[in-house]
Amino acid sequence: MRVIYPFVTRFSEALAALEGWPVEEIDVSSDGEGYYRLWADLWASGDTFVVIEQDIVAPPGMLQSFEDCPEEWCAAIYWMPWGGFGAWFGAVRFRGSLTRRHPSLPDEIGERHWSALDSAFINHLRLHGYSEAHRHGSARHLTKGRPGLNETLFIGCAECGVPLPTEEVIASPYPKCAACGAVNNMAVSPVTVTSPVL
Ligand SMILES: [Zn+2]
Ligand SMILES: [Zn+2]
Repeated sequence: MRVIYPFVTRFSEALAALEGWPVEEIDVSSDGEGYYRLWADLWASGDTFVVIEQDIVAPPGMLQSFEDCPEEWCAAIYWMPWGGFGAWFGAVRFRGSLTRRHPSLPDEIGERHWSALDSAFINHLRLHGYSEAHRHGSARHLTKGRPGLNETLFIGCAECGVPLPTEEVIASPYPKCAACGAVNNMAVSPVTVTSPVL
């Protein structure tokens, strides 16, 4: 399994979490589509690869679990600044058996800017009949978004509906409700954000 670390800026904490694996660090800063070209190359290689984006800290054992898992599309969930956990391309592993089955998938993507690239790939994977990544726990996203963004967050407890403490929601996909004591599991079902995050 190849371990790919695309970067514009290196985050030492993210790199430290990959210790013990041969990491291919790839500079994608050339232009807005450099990251797309990397993905197209990885896809065309037919290799099994994992991509860890520059600001994602993989938890211990995650890369080994990606290597061991027989599923073709696997990912960790992580926090996104607009307010939710999800499995995008921050920490994702594809088996070559999948990419070789759909060699033209990267060509089908029209919008190739890095900022929406994982959504585009995921949309096209769905068009080819895949629903979503097999999930391997949660990774830590070092970039939380602009200051103040998450302060407007309102995620209600699945048990009692009382807003969950923002800090706990951001820190872990299993925030504990201070009101009723329930441990919410945001790793499994999509998070319901009951007021828009601006
Ligand atoms: Zn898996
Ligand atoms: Zn509650």
